[in-house]
Amino acid sequence: MRFESRRQRRLREASEQPFPPDWRRILAARWFGWHLLTLSERERLEDLVKRFVADKRWEAANGFALTDDMRVLIAAQACLLVLELDYDHFRGVGSIIVHPTTVVLQGQRSTDTTGIVSNGPFPVQGQAQYEGPVTISWDVASYEARHPGLASNVVFHEFAHKLDMLDGTVDGTPPLPDEAARGRWIDVFTREYESLQAGTAGDLIRDYGTVNPGEFFAVATEVFFCRPLALRDEKPELYEAMADFYRQNPASRMSTD
Ligand SMILES: [Zn+2]
Repeated sequence: MRFESRRQRRLREASEQPFPPDWRRILAARWFGWHLLTLSERERLEDLVKRFVADKRWEAANGFALTDDMRVLIAAQACLLVLELDYDHFRGVGSIIVHPTTVVLQGQRSTDTTGIVSNGPFPVQGQAQYEGPVTISWDVASYEARHPGLASNVVFHEFAHKLDMLDGTVDGTPPLPDEAARGRWIDVFTREYESLQAGTAGDLIRDYGTVNPGEFFAVATEVFFCRPLALRDEKPELYEAMADFYRQNPASRMSTD
């Protein structure tokens, strides 16, 4: 026989509970993505959300109180990324720290792949630390959850970094099934990254993606889930590469025909 770890039991018990109707109401009222999913996608997302909420350590900034709205909206958007992957892709996510608004962090930050280039206070709307917590600013996250047209989404962004980190490096290449897929990914992403840096990529992907390849992947993920039709039309190869990785075709959810 095998013993169940405490964590496994917590996950199993969370999964066995019915999805709280209040959580469904929160998603329907406050998240653009809910209405785009099929019934079976919603069922699978609900199961992921139940486990994610129970599994992760949720912390609030000083003097700030966490609510179900926060946990459920953050969990649902994070879990959309792994809807067709495996829950285990978030094994590197320990705690999620929710701040009421933009946080000013102290200390060093890395702004390119060569290492630390800047010191001192800097404002962030979110952060994903390697083998560390994910930080989310709630005012930004709750606004973006209702406005996909912005093509900006701090939750998609930070959890894309966590997927990128799974292979030990934040280099814009998440774990891919084989060398051929990896080669295709690097071809397409290098071309699009260089085009964004050269200023010839159009307006769809925001300039923050020029910071380094890791940021490019995170920013491209925001567009992939927020404005998939535009991305498919304007950058079909980039769209296809991400559709292969995420095993999702979000543009098909938006088509009216
Ligand atoms: Zn980032």
